[in-house]
Amino acid sequence: MTLDYNHRSGIAERINAAVDAALEAERAETPQRDYLGGSRLGHPCERALQFEFAGAPKDEGGDFTGQSLRIFAIGHQLEDLAIRWLRAAGLDLYTRKGNRPDGAQFGFKVAGGRIRGHVDGIIADAPAALGLRTPALWECKTMNARNWRDTVARGVSVAKPVYAAQIALYQAYMEGTVPGISAAPALFTAINKDTAELHHELVPFDADLAQRMSDRGVRILQATDAGELLPRIARNPDFFECRFCPWSERCWSLPA
Ligand code: SF4
Repeated sequence: MTLDYNHRSGIAERINAAVDAALEAERAETPQRDYLGGSRLGHPCERALQFEFAGAPKDEGGDFTGQSLRIFAIGHQLEDLAIRWLRAAGLDLYTRKGNRPDGAQFGFKVAGGRIRGHVDGIIADAPAALGLRTPALWECKTMNARNWRDTVARGVSVAKPVYAAQIALYQAYMEGTVPGISAAPALFTAINKDTAELHHELVPFDADLAQRMSDRGVRILQATDAGELLPRIARNPDFFECRFCPWSERCWSLPA
């Protein structure tokens, strides 16, 4: 009876609409990035990265919904928990300068600040029993159970190449401020959002991958500066990436 009443009153829909409207308004107030995010450089399509970097308007309905903004926010909160858990396990994990909550995030700027990245953390030390070499890059992602199981089974480099590209690039670019960080394997942590299981994986530095991603970043900047569009990833808009691309209409309405 109570449930039925609640259903008919539409209370959930009204509150959710108000929450989403507030989150979407906050998002609209956030200044757009004017740089290419290092975490994005492993995206399969260079043209999509170009649209993103140039701030091309997304197709109708292509912007983040209130639900996606909630998913991102929950992910950030879970990463904060993972930091606490790893520190409880004895890792000397730095996530901000001075390890103060108001300290700046660790990161890098290259290509005149047009390619940037922020790292989740740097492991300065760890109990010998854990077998970690330091200093090491720490990257953390949250995933649903299906993606998490796939990452555990196949490893991050195969299951999530975009994350592997990010890790390689960050190891390379952080070497200037944290000497030795690329000599030690990075620690990748994946949190299963459905079960709270944790996966940890050591990722040795892949210099070739870092170089390819760095070259890719330069190619995207140069093409954008020259007003040229890089090639599409597919021959038709039914391709998987294109179906979920927020610039699909823009992309496929262009002559090539
Ligand atoms: S629609 Fe497809 S080809 Fe075009 S930018 Fe998006 S992913 Fe790339």
